[in-house]
Amino acid sequence: MSVETAPVARPGRSRPAWYVATVTEVRPETPTATRLLLDVPGWPGSDPGSHLDLRLTAPDGYQATRSYSIARSGPGHVVLAVDEVPDGEVSPFLVRDVRAGDVLEVLGPLGSFFHWRPGESPRPVQLVAGGSGVVPLYAMAVAHDAAADPTPFRLLYSVRTPEDVFFRAELDALVGETFRLDLVYTRRAPAGWSTPVRRVTRDALAAATVPATERPRVYVCGSTGFVETVVPWLEELGHAQQDILTERFGGVR
Ligand SMILES: Cc1cc2nc3c(=O)[nH]c(=O)nc-3n(C[C@H](O)[C@H](O)[C@H](O)COP(=O)(O)OP(=O)(O)OC[C@H]3O[C@@H](n4cnc5c(N)ncnc54)[C@H](O)[C@@H]3O)c2cc1C
Repeated sequence: MSVETAPVARPGRSRPAWYVATVTEVRPETPTATRLLLDVPGWPGSDPGSHLDLRLTAPDGYQATRSYSIARSGPGHVVLAVDEVPDGEVSPFLVRDVRAGDVLEVLGPLGSFFHWRPGESPRPVQLVAGGSGVVPLYAMAVAHDAAADPTPFRLLYSVRTPEDVFFRAELDALVGETFRLDLVYTRRAPAGWSTPVRRVTRDALAAATVPATERPRVYVCGSTGFVETVVPWLEELGHAQQDILTERFGGVR
């Protein structure tokens, strides 16, 4: 197997290439998800919202490749967060079996449209995440904060239970004048939670997102079912099709 080393280029605008990635740290993210910190020599960095393809090779040469959004990255390093899909081929291995020191291969950075760059547009940003779909949106929120960009950001994040929130401490720390977090719990909410425990509804979207009259750029990410449920409602609420960017992680809901 050959592994290319990419020439150093502008972060996020580099031509995708294969890199060897060494796992430096493995942390539990939620009861079903794991955060992986990767050391990736030559990795150029990536635009917030990008993803990569991760390839595993078994001792018998069998290979499996899946896409993962980049939670954070900079020259030479990448952070991923992987949720386990029960009976999946790759994610159970990444969530349960990968250890520091393991070597993987990654192809990237990938994705030329689903990203947000600081200073690119003054239009407000509405992020809508279902489950692990928060990963690329978290990357955008981090970039927004790091650049002290004044663009209003709002994240509507649907999760099963309080324990299932990815990047909980980091998201809480981002909340402030230009970043608002709205959580929707679909199975169990924290004690004293006042909004109903149920899947995102059209009314919840209307109540907890930037109104279409403010012309936000809207980024929606989650399972295919989540995205396909939410997008028609956003359109009904007046958001123009070209203002809604989507990333589908697969599966149904
Ligand atoms: C651009 C992109 C970025 C992604 N980023 C992330 C990420 O940051 N974190 C993350 O955890 N996953 C992410 N995914 C999903 C990931 O690529 C895999 O699909 C997922 O890890 C399941 O792989 P698997 O081999 O375990 O399951 P498979 O063996 O491929 O599938 C097993 C079964 O699960 C279903 N399934 C596959 N994916 C999902 C899903 N996401 N939800 C529900 N059911 C599913 C399949 O239809 C199949 O029936 C991303 C996908 C895309 C396309």
